[in-house]
Amino acid sequence: MANTKYVFVTGGVSSSLGKGIIAASLAKLLQARGYRVTIQKLDPYINVDPGTLNPYEHGECYVTDDGAETDLDLGHYERFLNTPTSQANNVTTGRIYQSVIQKERRGEFLGKTVQVVPHITNEIKERIQILGKSGSYDIVITEIGGTVGDIESLPYIEAVRQLKWELGDTNALVIHLTLIPYLSAAGELKTKPTQHSVKTLMESGIKADILVCRTEHELSDDLRKKLALFCNVRQEAVIQSIDASTIYDVPNLMLEEGLDKVVLRQLVLQDDDTPDLENWNKFLQRHKNPKCQVTIGLIGKYVELQDSYKSILEAFIHAGAENEVKVNVVSIHSEYITNDTIENEIAHLDGILVAPGFGERGTEGKIKAVQFARENKLPFFGICLGMQMAVIEYSRNVIGIKEASSVEVDENTPHPVIDIMEEQKNITDMGGTMRLGSWDCELKENSKVFEAYGKSMIAERHRHRYEYNNNYKEQLEKAGLRTTGVNPKTGLVEIVEIPDHPWFVGVQYHPEYKSTVANPHPLFIAFIRAAVEYSKSNKSAKVSQG
Ligand code: GLN
Repeated sequence: MANTKYVFVTGGVSSSLGKGIIAASLAKLLQARGYRVTIQKLDPYINVDPGTLNPYEHGECYVTDDGAETDLDLGHYERFLNTPTSQANNVTTGRIYQSVIQKERRGEFLGKTVQVVPHITNEIKERIQILGKSGSYDIVITEIGGTVGDIESLPYIEAVRQLKWELGDTNALVIHLTLIPYLSAAGELKTKPTQHSVKTLMESGIKADILVCRTEHELSDDLRKKLALFCNVRQEAVIQSIDASTIYDVPNLMLEEGLDKVVLRQLVLQDDDTPDLENWNKFLQRHKNPKCQVTIGLIGKYVELQDSYKSILEAFIHAGAENEVKVNVVSIHSEYITNDTIENEIAHLDGILVAPGFGERGTEGKIKAVQFARENKLPFFGICLGMQMAVIEYSRNVIGIKEASSVEVDENTPHPVIDIMEEQKNITDMGGTMRLGSWDCELKENSKVFEAYGKSMIAERHRHRYEYNNNYKEQLEKAGLRTTGVNPKTGLVEIVEIPDHPWFVGVQYHPEYKSTVANPHPLFIAFIRAAVEYSKSNKSAKVSQG
């Protein structure tokens, strides 16, 4: 195809309408028709990237292969499309200004006054087109974070206006996602907020080409007509996005509404074939028809906000479908796990996952949870901080090094079984300086992980500053905490396991980032399988006791 086409997704009326899911669903449909598609997210906040944000702010920080710390919507893009994203797929205002200011310092603007228009908007336009100009994509979908009318999103809206004008209507279009609220007192769906939001967009010079309307109730033909007339779009371009029981239903719902066709027609692209969603629908079929269920405890300290562990929760859905099991996830606040509460919190579960995290808060509860899982042969999966807690627990309670700790938790610990990485010691900037992105790991044969992956060389994504301290390796190995995955170049320990436990695996990396609908993560699959076995043997034990 000669030139790349651009689709912009803006949001109106309210935040949290799910622009990311709509963008990912449209991309899925276009991909399933054979188009090469990618999705990009532009975030209007001033942080250079979300890496320094507390998970309570915007949820999980998602990490790409090339080590970008990004918005969690990129996780949806990868999970839906099964293609990796990169640094170029997430751009923030902070990043834009950083780049423009650096150019100004280098004298690149030749003495001109540097302004929002054209310098900031040019930088935004460049960032949007980087992916298109790579030649790898037929269509680039760009999601503009925030809600139309926000002060901070104005430069993005202006950049979209300019690009649309430069590229022409058959090469660029705007999808506006809005909310059609239902007033129960009146028993009616209301279109006025959408009309206003389309008008706001128009004031910035952008006419929405397609309206995607989030709604709790079906939109009638009359309502669609009214929306079309007052919002200046063709009726076929009024797309209903009704609440779905799972985000994975949205591509099919958008297909029924014809979103992909409307997009392709406007972009003058071929729309005769039907999208091939066979594998996607097989996954949905398994997801919706589980044969049994397990309950997993997700032990973390950001549990009040589900988005903090988005990729983990989604990886459970993929692994559940693969095993034809419904995975119920119970969030457990690690700060509340004490000797008095542990039995109540954990004993009834079929497995626990001790989550990633930062700082001291809640670590003692995590260590107690690991101990419970180890002693009671409950399937255990530790990710990043969760793995580090497993190493501390083993050192303390099996080897007897009572003061074993992580330098992150206790700077002066006499037994830093988890230590700060050498290259991290002199770092003062917090943003983008952790050990990030994809690193190789070599697996030992005859291990749970080798069995799960079915190969010995893997690459997984990282985001951490601390590491397993190799000075304690011999002692830990001898005492039964086996090292089954190591970085072949640096010798950094990536995985620990207890061989005589049904399933006890701790990984320094984040497997959840690589789990997709098409490729559920092997460790999540194996962990859920172990939880099913545990649940079955537990039930039969109870029956025989009874
Ligand atoms: N805080 C730990 C570290 O920096 C673990 C990080 C994580 O769980 N992502 O090493």
